[in-house]
Amino acid sequence: MSDIGPTAGGLSRGEPPRNKTAGVEALGDKGRSVRVRLLAIALLPTLVVLPIFLVIAALNWSQRFDNLLITKINGDLTIAHQYLSRILESSGQELQAFGQSARFAETSNSGNDAALLSLLDDERAAQGLDFLYLVDITGKVLASPRFSDARGLTDWPVVEDALSGQARQQIDLFRPDQLHALSPDLAERARVALVPTKAAAPTERTEEGRGMIVHSAAPVSIGARPGALVSGVLLNRNLDFIDTINELVYPKASLPEGSQGTATLFLDDVRVSTNVRLFQNQRALGTRVSQVVRDAVLGQGNVWLDRAFVVNDWYVSAYEPITDSFGQRIGMLYVGFLDAPFSMAKKRAFLTLAGGLAAVVLVTIPIFLRWARQIFNPLENVLRTITRVEMGDLGARTGTGPLPDEIGRVAHQMDLLLDQIEEHDRDLHRRIEERTRELRIANQQLEATTKQLIVSEKLAAVGEIAAGIAHEINNPIAVIQGNLDVIRNELGKLDLEVSDEFRLIDEQIHSIFVIVNKLLQFTRPDEYADTNEAYHVAEVIRSSMPLVQHLLNKVSIRLDLHIETNTVITINRTEIQQVLINLFVNAIHAMPDGGTLRVAAVDESQEGHSGVKISVSDNGKGMNAQTLARIFDPFFTTKQGEGSGLGLSISRKIIRRYGGTINASSTPGKGACFVIWLPAEKA
Ligand code: ADP
Repeated sequence: MSDIGPTAGGLSRGEPPRNKTAGVEALGDKGRSVRVRLLAIALLPTLVVLPIFLVIAALNWSQRFDNLLITKINGDLTIAHQYLSRILESSGQELQAFGQSARFAETSNSGNDAALLSLLDDERAAQGLDFLYLVDITGKVLASPRFSDARGLTDWPVVEDALSGQARQQIDLFRPDQLHALSPDLAERARVALVPTKAAAPTERTEEGRGMIVHSAAPVSIGARPGALVSGVLLNRNLDFIDTINELVYPKASLPEGSQGTATLFLDDVRVSTNVRLFQNQRALGTRVSQVVRDAVLGQGNVWLDRAFVVNDWYVSAYEPITDSFGQRIGMLYVGFLDAPFSMAKKRAFLTLAGGLAAVVLVTIPIFLRWARQIFNPLENVLRTITRVEMGDLGARTGTGPLPDEIGRVAHQMDLLLDQIEEHDRDLHRRIEERTRELRIANQQLEATTKQLIVSEKLAAVGEIAAGIAHEINNPIAVIQGNLDVIRNELGKLDLEVSDEFRLIDEQIHSIFVIVNKLLQFTRPDEYADTNEAYHVAEVIRSSMPLVQHLLNKVSIRLDLHIETNTVITINRTEIQQVLINLFVNAIHAMPDGGTLRVAAVDESQEGHSGVKISVSDNGKGMNAQTLARIFDPFFTTKQGEGSGLGLSISRKIIRRYGGTINASSTPGKGACFVIWLPAEKA
């Protein structure tokens, strides 16, 4: 227990804690940080780790999803590319088949140009070609009259290859004048007005007059001479061609609802054949590709596989360059599908994920918070208790039972410790109170002793003076008394005339004598004490009454006597009478307008001693507390000029000498009561 002494001392009641506020704040901070840390531990996985994990997963998934789209668009482009190649191939094959047909051989060998031209025209129409002509090794062109000018039609690598025996097909770009030479109608069909397009490369041009041609040439023999059949199909505005590609690449239900497949043939960067729609469902012919795509595909010859803004919406797009027979990049083949449904699906997936996360957070956080509260509530309880103890409330407890968890055990242990501290503190206080009481009593005793000493010294001094005065006064008095007697003898009978004056002088001399003797008796009582004899208390009281009877009669005071004692005490009769008479006279003085003087005596034992209790009470003016406290002091009197203030002081001295006690009680205005107790032992 002594170990916790200083702590208990520091926490004792009434003593303010030295760093109370600082202590509470520090604990408060600590409490808050524990709460914050606990919450962080509980919520970190849900609020931070899980979202980070989900964002990473979502980004990863989004990347894979995009990759899948790119793979798909790449596949789409491959299909479109293959279709274009097949068209080239089949046009070449058809041309070759015609060139090798018997019909052609017969007609070309017949030398009948008109018949040959007619055959070519029929074949052109049958194959759906835009032009078909025959050229021989000399460069002579045999073409239908629709050709306005046949010059320059042999300069193509495609034609040159065919003339040297090699069939070849390629997409070639024909200038407007070349198209016009083939047919004014063809030039007209090829013309596409440019539509200003956002993000396209800036241009001054307002229309595209060139034509993109599926250009085929097959070697033939004209007579014995080598020649070539040359055919062409204009791709500008060739909507059948582009719609076929689109249907092939994006058959019905191959794309999610809301998406839309598109295919386009670009001449340079201009859409010359497309199913991409402008507003009001009009095909976007004449619009141009964005500069970025143009630079990548036409400029650098790359294949573009990415999202691109096409005309008015985002498309997952694939562009590949188209190269002509000169090896020049002259245009692009494009396929793509509307991105919106995919991005929408992606967005929906993200939203579902985020919603799921929010739901998880909403469901789990209250649970976490409840669990956390179950941990920090007892902790805060402990903290509150510590704070209350710091403020001086040693009775504060957490009130936690011996819970199975660690915090519960700590709280319970703290309660037990506080119990010990409180018990220790109580014990300390008990001891302090005991010591204080003992000290107070010792102090009172000291005060009483000091007072007694002062009184004794005072009395000793008074005694000295009184003895001196008494001696000095007694002698002149004796002389006066002697001379008075001499005068009285000398006067003889004459004395009768001044007998009243002599009586007055006698009385006054006696009075002086009594006062002087009283003084001497008070200061040296032992010298004046008479011999002690055994008396009945009842008898002593009764015999004292006549001595004051004349005073009682004077102010009509009723006497109420209750003497019920047989106790015999060994005392000096004069002394005890002096005490009683003093009490009676004081009572009578206190009742100047009359009243009742009650004198009672009963046998009573005190602290195992048999004795008698005498009480003298009146219903006079009484005393206030200050007066009551001083009545036994020598020379204390309220009867200025009349009283000596020695009566009660001498009375107490006498009573104490006989081993008795005297006490007084009073209510101002109602009277006073003096109680004497005297032991019977000496009887
Ligand atoms: P004295 O009578 O000469 O004054 P005492 O010692 O006999 O001296 O009394 C002291 C004082 O006690 C008185 O002056 C008076 O004030 C008070 N006292 C004593 N007895 C009574 C009483 N019965 N009623 C009221 N006052 C009293």
